Amino acid sequence: MSNQQAVLTCHQVYKNYSQGPQQVSVLNGVNLQIHAGERVAIVGASGSGKSTLLNILGGLDVPDQGEVIVVGQQLSQMSADQRGRLRNRSLGFVYQFHHLLPEFTALENVSMPLLIGRQATAAAKERASAMLARVGLAERVQHKPSELSGGERQRVAIARALVTNPACVLMDEPTGNLDSHAADSIQQLMLELNQTIGTSFVVVTHDQRLAARMDRTLTLSDGTLV
Ligand code: ADP
Ligand code: MG
Repeated sequence: MSNQQAVLTCHQVYKNYSQGPQQVSVLNGVNLQIHAGERVAIVGASGSGKSTLLNILGGLDVPDQGEVIVVGQQLSQMSADQRGRLRNRSLGFVYQFHHLLPEFTALENVSMPLLIGRQATAAAKERASAMLARVGLAERVQHKPSELSGGERQRVAIARALVTNPACVLMDEPTGNLDSHAADSIQQLMLELNQTIGTSFVVVTHDQRLAARMDRTLTLSDGTLV
């Protein structure tokens, strides 16, 4: 894949929410293009629409107007099933709170996207355990989320997001819930994985240090990216 190829594009995206009789305009013509392997930070005041934008980019929410194109495919032209498959195959997600399944081990949580993508169980477990080793958790595969530290849970969440080898990972405040030491170690891990795997990262963050480590920083302000 050429380095200049766009993995994720959005064109003139608008989103309003109605709160009672009031219309709140959140996104007001957002344009964005993410290239293969690129790392982009999105910053902006609380309530500026960062999570809304990330959810729209990931096909978890739909814009009122505008287009989102993931690895060349226009989301609005796809059925819900097709969008689900594209999300599973081409995107990964990491949130501030890990969103791991509490009843399942680290290994089972990381295997999940592969099993959903219909990989055989043995192959899925093998890949998941290799990915967990890569994020430094070879000794924690049988632990459940409640048996892991905050930083370790985020490592599992990152392993889960990357295990399918997606074109792009979308992260919403991935270190927002961690102390500065754990945050720093997660940030280093993110950079290392970006360099070795070549997955693009779009990272919403309040952390200036994390933003500074990305290739570009965009600010969401008055509903547009600047
Ligand atoms: P950020 O992530 O930048 O803090 P959000 O994208 O979560 O901002 O929210 C942007 C704005 O949209 C906020 O004013 C929020 O109250 C509003 N909003 C978000 N989700 C909804 C919803 N489901 N219904 C109504 N308003 C919403
Ligand atoms: Mg948010």
